[in-house]
Amino acid sequence: MSNALGINRARHAAVLLLSIAFGIAAAPASAADCPGNPDALGTSRTLVVDPLEHRRIGTMQYAETLPLQDHEVVLTFDDGPLPPHSTQVLNILASQCVKATFFIIGRMARSFPEGVRRVRDAGHSIGTHSQNHPLSMNRMPIERARQEIDDGIAATEAALGDGGGLAPFFRIPGLLRAEAVEDYLASRGIQTWSADFPADDWRHVSSGRVYDLAMKRLEAKGKGILLLHDIQARTVAALPRILHELKARGYRIVHVVPATPELPATPTEPQQWQLHPPSETVAISHWPKVPNFAFARTDLFASPALSDFDGTDGMLLLQPEPFDRVSRHVRGVPLPQEAPWPREWLLPASSAAVALPVPAKTVFELPELPRPTPEAVARLVPRGKPVVVAEHEPPPEAVSARVGNSPRALRGKNRFGHRKQLSVSHKGRRGTAVAAHGRSNATHAGRGPAKHLAQVKKRNV
Ligand SMILES: [Zn+2]
Repeated sequence: MSNALGINRARHAAVLLLSIAFGIAAAPASAADCPGNPDALGTSRTLVVDPLEHRRIGTMQYAETLPLQDHEVVLTFDDGPLPPHSTQVLNILASQCVKATFFIIGRMARSFPEGVRRVRDAGHSIGTHSQNHPLSMNRMPIERARQEIDDGIAATEAALGDGGGLAPFFRIPGLLRAEAVEDYLASRGIQTWSADFPADDWRHVSSGRVYDLAMKRLEAKGKGILLLHDIQARTVAALPRILHELKARGYRIVHVVPATPELPATPTEPQQWQLHPPSETVAISHWPKVPNFAFARTDLFASPALSDFDGTDGMLLLQPEPFDRVSRHVRGVPLPQEAPWPREWLLPASSAAVALPVPAKTVFELPELPRPTPEAVARLVPRGKPVVVAEHEPPPEAVSARVGNSPRALRGKNRFGHRKQLSVSHKGRRGTAVAAHGRSNATHAGRGPAKHLAQVKKRNV
């Protein structure tokens, strides 16, 4: 084992020297040329990215992620280095000839500079993760955030020494993003990395749970950036099984390196940077809009036009919404209660007009109430919610139809289970993601890095 590792180290050092000499990326190791392990997972290819072209990546928070093909995985490890766990992670990766990206904390680099060099010498990519891992970069003054970023980079560079090897990659602690922080990183030519899925390895869960979550979430997306922590014993314990299973299920490891003047970015198309290209998510990106009801200054309710239903090319979208509590059958076919999304078109467009005629104007008339009184409005809201008829705001039920009862919002409710999430969900997809991860990472804040920094102190004592 130690011989194999020695050979690996020598090999990596040779590759590194070649890279420096010829200005090329480290040659990817494949399973076939992994010394001592013919069944290794290996690294299938090296992806060269230009941080200036794609400033923010990772669908946990951003619209873009790395341009991976199906079944391609990028491994990332945060919060190190911390012996012995970081060293064990490096050994496990080396045994499988797998290349990853490590996001280093400046204070850790200062305490264990040898650990940072070890990551570099093994041929992995190195980004930074702030100086002190504050879990408040989303709300601290930008000057302080800049200091955290700059100090973390300086400490990591100092640990690396003359050999260099720091990539312009940064992951915000706890993923607690802020526009100003990302802008500053971009101004320094640094790419902000979120992730596509975590494995919750900073929580107090078993290594079996870490493995389960990693594989389940990867299977759900089919590819992406996996967020792990090389300072956790449970991650060390789960990693061999994860790598073995990746190989068994046909996944391939991609090593990401930054573009340089000598090493141009891997050619890609813009849609490759989206986890799901537009053609696959047309139903999501064209979520049907609810007609914008206006109660004020309206004597009669106008009958909706066909165009109010957000279809394409005049087609009616025959998807009963969850708020449609009456029509549970289409042509006698009962619709499932959970309203899964997306669904197939149930009827051809040619028969749409026949199936759902435009409602007559009289359907919406209130003959005895020329103007809607509060009582009349209350009748339209069977659940007895208070209704405020405002001039410039959509009525509550319109909001509830659009947000509260939408499948996406319902998913949010089920997943996070409280109103706070719901209240931010209408602010947009990005806002929701940030709020969700901000919350989950509060745990990260309290128990993760703080604990490890405490360990660092303890060890230093
Ligand atoms: Zn972290």
